[in-house]
Amino acid sequence: MKKAVYPGSFDPITFGHIDIAKRALKVFEKLVIVISVNPNKQGMFTGEERVTMVKEVMKDHLDQIEVMTSNDLTVKQTKNLGASHIVRGLRAVTDFEYEFQLTHANRVLEKEIDSIFFMTDNKYSFLSSTTVKEIALFKGELNTFVPKFVEDMIVKKIENE
Ligand code: ADP
Repeated sequence: MKKAVYPGSFDPITFGHIDIAKRALKVFEKLVIVISVNPNKQGMFTGEERVTMVKEVMKDHLDQIEVMTSNDLTVKQTKNLGASHIVRGLRAVTDFEYEFQLTHANRVLEKEIDSIFFMTDNKYSFLSSTTVKEIALFKGELNTFVPKFVEDMIVKKIENE
């Protein structure tokens, strides 16, 4: 069975992430979305909240998708889960440099695990979780960037701050 890990912060999940996950599902039978929760990096959402959002927006694909948090090394986690590949998304050339370094570091750590990249739909190539959070802080329209469920979670979070 072809199984891959799609790691990231997903703080929060956007239409860009969803686009990549759906493309990966056409290639892999199982996709484990691994949400990295870095204790040194202050996120907007807790790991648990991010899992809830990912599960909700991917609910039509839960037969193929598993969602979890981790603060382990991605390659180690990938190996432990019995997956063969790491899925990552590419937006613009700017992503390449970072992904290039990351892939090589991962390959040194675990040569059996390979990375595979999907290019996002053009309309999401400018989209990042950071952009979404900035727009939200200034009360901008979010519906072209994130699903309604995520938008509601963001609005609630900002209101409670
Ligand atoms: P990380 O902190 O690991 O970069 P992110 O949640 O920002 O976590 O991104 C996880 C992965 O999803 C990365 O490979 C990133 O390039 C990709 N990604 C993020 N936003 C988009 C998007 N709009 N289109 C395609 N890929 C994206």
